[in-house]
Amino acid sequence: MPELLTDILLRIPRSMATDLERYAYLALGVWLVLWVLLPKVLRFRKVRADWPERRQLVIEFLHSLRSIAIFSLLSTSTYVMWRLGWLPWADLNAQLTGPYWFWGSVLLHILLHDAYFYWIHRWMHEPQRFRLYHKRHHRSNNPSPFTAYSFDLREAGLMVLFVILFEILVPNAHGSTGMFIVVSLVKNTLAHSGFELMPATRSGKPMFDWFTTTVHHDLHHARAGYNFGLYFTWWDKWMGTEDPTYYQEFKRVVEQGRQTDTATAAVA
Ligand SMILES: [Zn+2]
Ligand SMILES: [Zn+2]
Repeated sequence: MPELLTDILLRIPRSMATDLERYAYLALGVWLVLWVLLPKVLRFRKVRADWPERRQLVIEFLHSLRSIAIFSLLSTSTYVMWRLGWLPWADLNAQLTGPYWFWGSVLLHILLHDAYFYWIHRWMHEPQRFRLYHKRHHRSNNPSPFTAYSFDLREAGLMVLFVILFEILVPNAHGSTGMFIVVSLVKNTLAHSGFELMPATRSGKPMFDWFTTTVHHDLHHARAGYNFGLYFTWWDKWMGTEDPTYYQEFKRVVEQGRQTDTATAAVA
């Protein structure tokens, strides 16, 4: 038993280091590329004309570090369950090897997380819960890449709860949870990045309309009440919560460059 306790205590800082490393590479990476290296190249895809103040970014970053600490601490519970032999799918999981099981498990994580996120997000927007669960995240009216993990304590707990429940309830290939966290963090950071990277059709609609875009989530921050989805647009479409101005706003953003190109060509 003391050996198990030592293992668990050692596991927490190791798990925290992994989470911090992921965050450092991915969230800082997105910020560095889009906000420091390429803002001029991508200026025609900037969703809003103004930038958030530096103070907002620092506050978001500090809250993100706190969220990561919560994620690491609470997700250690699955390790404890595994060590105690309480994870029902542990033996089956060990047999799910090879790329098909791995990527199939990652996809299953994403599909179930998309549904979980949509409904938990709507639940947190109920007036009696918003202040306790979700206010911190919406303090960022004009989001930045660091808004992605800027959560209240309770919201951070609900976010990691999905990973814990998935591990207990769903068989999945070894390592797929780590890859899912990477995909989810990249998607989340890009959704808050302030730059629209989705290719557009000639008529100014999103090329892959079933994926959410930066404009989709930016509208949620601009005026909450619509666009609760994270990866896919279908839950908002099915439940009638898609912002009625979404396509108009997406078109405005992606056509900023086209209009300038046309004006330049006309002058030339
Ligand atoms: Zn929200
Ligand atoms: Zn957000």
